[in-house]
Amino acid sequence: EKNELQKFIPNIRGEYTLFSPSTGIFDTYKFMQVLETIAKNNEVLISYNSEVTGIEKVNGNYKIIVKEQDNNTFEFLSEIVINCAGLYSERIAQIVDIDTKSAGYKIHYGKGEYFSLPGKYKNLFNSLIYPVIPLNSKSLGIHTVLDLQGMIKLCPNIFYVKEIDYSVNELHRKEFYNAVKKYFPFIEEDELSPDMAGIRPKIQGPGDNFKDFVINEEKDKGLPGFINLIGIDSPGLTSYLAIAKYVSN
Ligand SMILES: Cc1cc2nc3c(=O)[nH]c(=O)nc-3n(C[C@H](O)[C@H](O)[C@H](O)COP(=O)(O)OP(=O)(O)OC[C@H]3O[C@@H](n4cnc5c(N)ncnc54)[C@H](O)[C@@H]3O)c2cc1C
Repeated sequence: EKNELQKFIPNIRGEYTLFSPSTGIFDTYKFMQVLETIAKNNEVLISYNSEVTGIEKVNGNYKIIVKEQDNNTFEFLSEIVINCAGLYSERIAQIVDIDTKSAGYKIHYGKGEYFSLPGKYKNLFNSLIYPVIPLNSKSLGIHTVLDLQGMIKLCPNIFYVKEIDYSVNELHRKEFYNAVKKYFPFIEEDELSPDMAGIRPKIQGPGDNFKDFVINEEKDKGLPGFINLIGIDSPGLTSYLAIAKYVSN
């Protein structure tokens, strides 16, 4: 109820609220470092700055061709291939001759920008705020999150782009301001600063209804042991361990 909302976040404007006590943020870099350490302790070999440029089927195995940063290449054989190449996952699927269009694996680039609020709002509240989103929305809508230092970010919008470019368009400030002023009416438009941008690999294209991401072993395409993870956009990071468990099972 309204009164309860004010108890959590003073000065917020809103009608009803649903409190999710387990929603939060975490340090993604540290998380990856921990996974890297655990993997290495389990004798996983990681090839950094390397690009998979070819995959061929050879006697029930897959031959993986890899180009290193210095343009040297090496190859190895594997019974199992897990394609989790994010924005390039469609390209990797095409390397093994999957018709990605008919399989529904076409990747659309869903760009998302962030704007930040000045330090004076630091510690204004202690939770993430998600406004209600329209049906079939392409994303969660512009919401308010904290970073690990307690600074407030408004994020992310979504629009489809053809090229990978991580700049933030200052002209989008108004869109963010219009979204946030509905529940924080005291914030001024010129207090929003362009912050960062990311690009989601989405199989839900412009005008499509909601499409979830795809995790599929491609036996029926004559590719046993080849597991595609296509269109892993948000909440792909939150679901990382669950996805990994599902794939390994
Ligand atoms: C703006 C934005 C906000 C988001 N917010 C959230 C959020 O709040 N919560 C959440 O859970 N998720 C969020 N996500 C989604 C999350 O970031 C992704 O779901 C997650 O990063 C997907 O992980 P991945 O390992 O599948 O792909 P990626 O993280 O994209 O990793 C793919 C890797 O494959 C490598 N690669 C690609 N091609 C090749 C090749 N040919 N050879 C070798 N390597 C290759 C790439 O270099 C990259 O390292 C957000 C994403 C964006 C863009």
